[in-house]
Amino acid sequence: MRDKILKSVESLEQSLIDLTSDLIRFPTINPPGEAYTPCAEFIGERLRKRGFSVEFARGEGTPGDTDRYPRTNVVARIEGNRPGACVHFNSHIDVVEAGEGWTLDPFAGIVKDGRVYGRGACDMKGGLAASIIAVEAYLEACPDFPGAIEISGTVDEESGGFGGVAYLASKGYFSKPRVDHVIIPEPLNKDRICLGHRGVWWAEIETKGEIAHGSMPFLGDCAVRHMGTVLEAFERDLFPALDRKQTTMPVVPEGARRSTLNLNSIHGGQTDDFRPGLPSPNVPDWCRLTIDRRFLLEEKIEDVKGEVVEILDRLKRERSKFDYEIRDVMEVRPTMTERDAPVVTAVAEGIRAIFDREPDYVISPGTYDQKHVARIGHLFDCIAYGPGILDLAHRPDEWVGIQDMIQSAQVMAIGLDLLLHGTAR
Ligand SMILES: [Zn+2]
Repeated sequence: MRDKILKSVESLEQSLIDLTSDLIRFPTINPPGEAYTPCAEFIGERLRKRGFSVEFARGEGTPGDTDRYPRTNVVARIEGNRPGACVHFNSHIDVVEAGEGWTLDPFAGIVKDGRVYGRGACDMKGGLAASIIAVEAYLEACPDFPGAIEISGTVDEESGGFGGVAYLASKGYFSKPRVDHVIIPEPLNKDRICLGHRGVWWAEIETKGEIAHGSMPFLGDCAVRHMGTVLEAFERDLFPALDRKQTTMPVVPEGARRSTLNLNSIHGGQTDDFRPGLPSPNVPDWCRLTIDRRFLLEEKIEDVKGEVVEILDRLKRERSKFDYEIRDVMEVRPTMTERDAPVVTAVAEGIRAIFDREPDYVISPGTYDQKHVARIGHLFDCIAYGPGILDLAHRPDEWVGIQDMIQSAQVMAIGLDLLLHGTAR
């Protein structure tokens, strides 16, 4: 049976190449959320012809959803001929902007030297195409299967996934009994299984001051100088403390195997709007810093927040007139699927069969849609596995290797067979 499945994938190589190119030609740039509907309809049409029942679900009222830019998701499902588990392949259809530095058209779907080029080729239209081909090949080789198979194309992953997987999860699309196992074909390299991701806490810290004439700053209170002391305290106390927090999570790259903090942006006083004139001479009465803290399974969110608040409170005690506000912007808990979870062992078996080696088990430094499957759907049998080289994501001249897509489609098809039948055949 396994041979039949592998050959079936191989026979669909041209179809896989064409599908990847076709998907890249929809410029599904997010923001603003361009071309979501035609792209979702294209996927739905294809799968309907192959016997799937197809639903379109618009993330109404989610961030960015308008009649000009509707958040259109597609979910396709095919039932087996007897009851059993449901395996769901979820891919995001949105891509980030092309940006500068391309030597070829980012939305032409150019095929060259064994690769398909374009924005989203790697992240993650190549993965979406590979999963569709894996399923189509599987249906050809094994039309008699138990359970059900689902394929979804969802929006907005690049901006948090609120109109996509989060929305669908809130409607029950990512929960039992509808779905049992979820594979997200993000570009994590074809021989690695991504079990989850670190957590995120974004917050905005504002220091307060008092406006005065810039020639007599002693009459006011400079919010930017207050922020300077916050940065100093972070440098002295927080960054070294974070460096010391190591994790047992197998995060890649290794530099991210600890707590990290990015100072995302800082603004204070008058805005840049005065250009091309001059600013007026004022003492700034506000300064805002956005922080992006990535945390570990070993950490509690309360402690993550607490160590920042402790520094700010200390400054308040020690420094005259220092006052601040802190606002949460976003928080996502870390998640890590167990290594002996069914979806992990099934895909691992696929990797052994195709590459004759043990898979690497990794954790992503940043989050992806698995967070919504876990937190909203309460479904923990979920991984990211797909072709595409992680480092190429979001870069100019992004590409995905055709051989990589074929092999990872074979891995997915073997994993699918194991999950549906429960045993190797
Ligand atoms: Zn992605």
